[in-house]
Amino acid sequence: MKVTLLKYTPNPELLCAAAAMTSYKDMGTSKMLEKLNLEKARKIIRRVMSSGHYSVIEHASFTFSGEGVSRTLTHQLVRHRIASFTQQSQRYVRYSALEHYVKPLSVLENKEAARIYDATLLRISDTYQKLLKYEIPKEDARFILPNAAKTNILITMNGRELRHFFNLRCCIRSQWEIRRMAMEMLRQAKRVAPAIFENAGPSCIKLGYCPEGALKDPTCKIAEIKRKFSELQHC
Ligand SMILES: Cc1cc2nc3c(=O)[nH]c(=O)nc-3n(C[C@H](O)[C@H](O)[C@H](O)COP(=O)(O)OP(=O)(O)OC[C@H]3O[C@@H](n4cnc5c(N)ncnc54)[C@H](O)[C@@H]3O)c2cc1C
Repeated sequence: MKVTLLKYTPNPELLCAAAAMTSYKDMGTSKMLEKLNLEKARKIIRRVMSSGHYSVIEHASFTFSGEGVSRTLTHQLVRHRIASFTQQSQRYVRYSALEHYVKPLSVLENKEAARIYDATLLRISDTYQKLLKYEIPKEDARFILPNAAKTNILITMNGRELRHFFNLRCCIRSQWEIRRMAMEMLRQAKRVAPAIFENAGPSCIKLGYCPEGALKDPTCKIAEIKRKFSELQHC
């Protein structure tokens, strides 16, 4: 999996702080932007977010590419509706051998499981190629492709939606592949906008308890999780 923050709103923290000040200063946003420096902007962002006014961070947008991820991951990812996506199409791109599939670590580490996993994927690939040979269109041949099929996806989210995404998908309850992607997105987002993504991560970091209730992972230690995510700040 390769996850890259490709583009983002220039000076995202200055813009979001200027947005916050627009609501209570008798001055246009353009003037505000001229007056702000990064240190002041970060203070403003921290203050407004601590009061729950997250709408100001909707002005900053972040675009990531996710490459070589599985369709299992993207099926979960596209459930996030306040986001924009563009995904490689199975109608146009043809699949071939094993390098076009993701293999989970649990399978990789189990010799016999890995053997039957690979054999099944090879068989699927073989049937897929045969269907194409019989002039079945790619858009129909793809019906036999599995969730393991690799894909590429472009994701754009604003700061508020990203924080929400991190709440859900950096949590240990989230599935490993999308969690790995979310962690990498968080790491990269923090580098360019540390105040916007301060304390971002699973919901328990801010709440101090697990909102999953009875479904919570009994091995979870909130203090440890808090420490781990605060260390991300310094990477
Ligand atoms: C651990 C985990 C397990 C999951 N298991 C399942 C499962 O078994 N089955 C399943 O189907 N899904 C499952 N999901 C997906 C989950 O139900 C959500 O669809 C997904 O996480 C997107 O969350 P969201 O709707 O909050 O986010 P987004 O779609 O990104 O929306 C962000 C926020 O905007 C608001 N919003 C967006 N659209 C609307 C709307 N139409 N009306 C009102 N408010 C809106 C809500 O406040 C929402 O929280 C799981 C997710 C996780 C993290």
